[in-house]
Amino acid sequence: MSAPVISVGRVVRGFTQAIGNTPLIRLNRLSEETGCEILGKAEFMNPGGSVKDRAALYVVQDAERRGLLKPGGTVVEGTAGNTGIGLAHVCRAKGYKCVIYMPNTQSKEKIDLLRMLGADVRPVPAVPFTDPANYNHQAREFAATLDNAVWTNQFDNTANRQAHIETTGPEIWAQTQGRLDAFTCATGTGGTLAGTARALKDASGGRVKVFLADPPGSVLYALKKTGALERTGAGSITEGIGQGRLTDNLAPDFELLDDAVHVPDEASIEMVYRLLDEEGLFVGASSALNVAAAVQVAKILGPGKTIATIICDGAYRYQSRLFSKAWLESKGLLSAIPAHLQRYVSL
Ligand code: PMP
Repeated sequence: MSAPVISVGRVVRGFTQAIGNTPLIRLNRLSEETGCEILGKAEFMNPGGSVKDRAALYVVQDAERRGLLKPGGTVVEGTAGNTGIGLAHVCRAKGYKCVIYMPNTQSKEKIDLLRMLGADVRPVPAVPFTDPANYNHQAREFAATLDNAVWTNQFDNTANRQAHIETTGPEIWAQTQGRLDAFTCATGTGGTLAGTARALKDASGGRVKVFLADPPGSVLYALKKTGALERTGAGSITEGIGQGRLTDNLAPDFELLDDAVHVPDEASIEMVYRLLDEEGLFVGASSALNVAAAVQVAKILGPGKTIATIICDGAYRYQSRLFSKAWLESKGLLSAIPAHLQRYVSL
């Protein structure tokens, strides 16, 4: 047995400094299968458990810098969950109150966790952005009624993408030592995709190809392919993913994206189970979507390429859905799980 490789930094000061610097994991079986190096950035290893810890820290620091948030203040956000969880942690670590508006379609695990982290959680009906009752508008309006409060506005606040320009992208570039050929990931706010793409394009002189990954129900795939703002498919099981518009985080770099891949839910759910069975990784559906997209990119580019993607969070946040027979059946997805992986459907 070879000696363990010790690769650790120094002591970090508190929760916020523990965000980032996550491992980049070679997905061994998928790499062998495709003839490419398929690499997953292990964002579930952030201290709040998801890629959104990075954006949460940046939007709070941005509000502090702009004088919008002073000691004892309140952070208000509209979020499908992970940004809220990141914010709830960052707020506890920095002494702020945290109020979260979220669509009532999200998993119980995320709502319970937010409440355990001390956030004031307000589930509201899931209506489109164009409806004034949308969770984002409710968050903005509530923040405006308070003193010393900020609506962090993750969708259009570009401090979100800045987190990935300054951290995620440079980390992936350093970890691949300049050998990266492509990057792909899906979008919620678009911060991760746009920020990481910008950093990787800049670092590589434009050489790294970037592919948008999009689930059913989102408009971005069609927008990239045809320029038309139209939905591809009805809706998706991938919580926190899919967009109906170009956010301010994504818009500046949408042209920078080389191409787009569409990932149906069947492919995402199969990948949830494959990653568990083959790699020992227990990940959520957006991570699986991203990895399925990386496999598509490998097929497009051909063997010998190095392709990175994001493993956004763990499956713990969705286990009552993703591992439940009744839930999978209700979505028509039970049959998308290959027979030899059905034994993992255990709830
Ligand atoms: N995966 C999960 C599980 C998420 O919650 C989110 C954010 N909603 C994303 C991916 C997308 O990240 P971004 O907002 O940076 O596009």
